[in-house]
Amino acid sequence: MKRISSRAIIFKEDKVLLMFRKKRQKDGTIKEYFVVPGGGWEGDETLEQNAIRELKEEMNIDIEITNFVGLEISDFGCANYFVAKIVKGEPHLGGEEREKNNEDNYYEPMFVDLSQLDKLDIVGKEYIKKAYDKQFQILNNAILTDQGICPTCYDKKFGNVLFGDNSKNIIFKDDDVEVFMCANPRAKGHVIISTIKHFKDMMEIDDETCKKVFVLAKNVMNAIKKVFESESVYLCTMCDGPNNHFHLQLIPRYNFEKRGSINFVKERQPYLYEQEKIEQLKKILSE
Ligand SMILES: [Zn+2]
Repeated sequence: MKRISSRAIIFKEDKVLLMFRKKRQKDGTIKEYFVVPGGGWEGDETLEQNAIRELKEEMNIDIEITNFVGLEISDFGCANYFVAKIVKGEPHLGGEEREKNNEDNYYEPMFVDLSQLDKLDIVGKEYIKKAYDKQFQILNNAILTDQGICPTCYDKKFGNVLFGDNSKNIIFKDDDVEVFMCANPRAKGHVIISTIKHFKDMMEIDDETCKKVFVLAKNVMNAIKKVFESESVYLCTMCDGPNNHFHLQLIPRYNFEKRGSINFVKERQPYLYEQEKIEQLKKILSE
């Protein structure tokens, strides 16, 4: 019978907990690699209990299983991958791994930055990626906000996992700001100016950034008016809450629309990608 094992993938911020291994090979060289912590099933336990017991023995931590990721069947056996979280303890080596630890057969628990995954030799890497994707599928704005995390900053940091890739809607970008077409606009030509750095609202911005944002807003408004042939462009900002990410809304008003604050709450429309207009805006703003 193939060896059955259970393994726990544990994320902490943008890191994953792994066991770093060094093992002397038959040819005398030392191989360095990582494994997802876990170990063999002992028969009188569930697979979840298997993972919980192994993590306690190997790394001295109490964990709680939160999700099943998948079963890997290979020549080495059947490995069950779970996602888990630490409920008690800081990982440090224990159990038989600690007893047999030496330079030729070395074990060390380690949090590894997720950005390093592709560069490292990791047994079970595909399952870490699967688990990572699974986590983000269930994440949304509201969950992040409840946890005190700004969704906009989170989205940027993790490669647009929440809001998707907006790079083709961007009309201007530098180290301080990002200007892009609103994905669910209140009018054609609705543009958003957002700071790269996190500020929860305008009252928090330093003067220099504030000046820059408003001069830029003036230029973008003129560009929108010209390219979209609107009669005017309205500006508003109403970030309100600890996890809001400062942004300005620039909303055109057209000649067939009434003047006034009604324009701030016009019904949202589906986004129309208009490459030609985007290129025109980009050109004006790059001058
Ligand atoms: Zn933010």
